[in-house]
Amino acid sequence: MDVITNLVNTCEQLPVTAEMVKDYSKKDTLLAEVYEYTTSGSWPNNIDKSSQIVFFHNRRDQLSIVSDCLMFNDRIVIPVSLRARVLKMLHRAHTGMVRMKQLARTLVYWPSIDKDIENIVRSCDQCAAVSKNPIKNTLCSWPISTKPWQRVHVDYAGPVEGTYYLVVVDSFSKWPEIVPTTSITSAATINILRKMFAQFGDPETLVTDNGTQFTSAQFHDFCKDRGIQHTRSPPFHPQSNGQAERFVDTLKRALGKLKGEGNTDASSYLFLQSYRSSPCTASPNGSSPAENFIGRKIRTFLDQLLPTDQLPNSHDTEMEKQFNNQHGARCRNFNVGDKVYVKDYRSINTTTWIPGTIQRRIGRTMYRVTVENNNFWIRHTNQLRRRDTPTSFDVPLDTMDTMDAIDWTPLSTTWPDRSPPTPAPILPGSPTAPSPKPIRKSTRTVKPPPKFVMKPNKKSYH
Ligand SMILES: [Zn+2]
Repeated sequence: MDVITNLVNTCEQLPVTAEMVKDYSKKDTLLAEVYEYTTSGSWPNNIDKSSQIVFFHNRRDQLSIVSDCLMFNDRIVIPVSLRARVLKMLHRAHTGMVRMKQLARTLVYWPSIDKDIENIVRSCDQCAAVSKNPIKNTLCSWPISTKPWQRVHVDYAGPVEGTYYLVVVDSFSKWPEIVPTTSITSAATINILRKMFAQFGDPETLVTDNGTQFTSAQFHDFCKDRGIQHTRSPPFHPQSNGQAERFVDTLKRALGKLKGEGNTDASSYLFLQSYRSSPCTASPNGSSPAENFIGRKIRTFLDQLLPTDQLPNSHDTEMEKQFNNQHGARCRNFNVGDKVYVKDYRSINTTTWIPGTIQRRIGRTMYRVTVENNNFWIRHTNQLRRRDTPTSFDVPLDTMDTMDAIDWTPLSTTWPDRSPPTPAPILPGSPTAPSPKPIRKSTRTVKPPPKFVMKPNKKSYH
């Protein structure tokens, strides 16, 4: 497959979004077929072994449809026509073959994806120009840290065009910080660290090399005052500060690769975001530094690739549940044709409820409701209640489809939780609106408000 040639022509057309994947997949004969089988749940008995469909057939138990997108586990399946562009997205920060493969495995899938990644990295001039020398063994190994920011490694990189970079790496999560600076004195270094420690707290141990800014009395006092144990790597063994050293090396290569893709600052931030958000074998569980350091994934431009249902933390269900418990709210779902009472805002002074029928759902919590005289209102579930009695204007279900001439906002739209009252259609003098049956008082037993519970699995950020 000519992914690489293709790639050169499509560099400028980033990024690819889940919406695009959905559209292009429909035009992809193979994926359209897989989509059909996945939706129906029945695969043909005879699978053409020479076709790529065999890859999907072998994984059929892990295939699903999310927001109309074909998924392989948590990964969105990419059609042929978009693969080159997705590869370019994954390779944007030139993080190297291993990291690129790890990143891809959290997001996208197609048969032969690993091979395509190998090809793109091998044929990348920027990657080749700065490729790593054979790895030297680290002479000194540090005890394993057990929590974030327990031991941090600090070193200077540069100068690159007159700018130095103070590099700080957390040994637990491998979360890196890079601070550009023109001065590398003790005072300047302390200033940078003071800011950083205001954000993350003082580490227990700080590891540096024997640079003069780190051997000064001033720096010694800074650490002592804060109860930070300052460890310097023994002379002639600078690799003892391995973590920062290695990261400085990675950073230098990354900046080299990103040259010509914006200024150095922009490049280093692009690199930082990519590094922090990519799965990392040296970080606990092979998760991303961000997950191990701040306890969550960070959103990047790559997140546009996945359908929104699939994004982590899109809803804090724990928190929603707690809110709902506290406020006595119940999850109310209505089906088409359900009989309801609808809040009526036509009179400014009094809100009443009038009977209606659910015509369709137009959002997670919004419904279009048919009311008297074939009018309809848009209402939030909080403005709807169930009703048992029929009314004269209840519309037979099968005629409802013809009322859908207007294009309504799709389900995925985010609606405000508390919608303002929709301007009600003015009904020609209808004081005869059937008065609602008195609303039954809820017979639900009122529970005492639950105690606030801390999430036990929530990471703390020492
Ligand atoms: Zn590259």
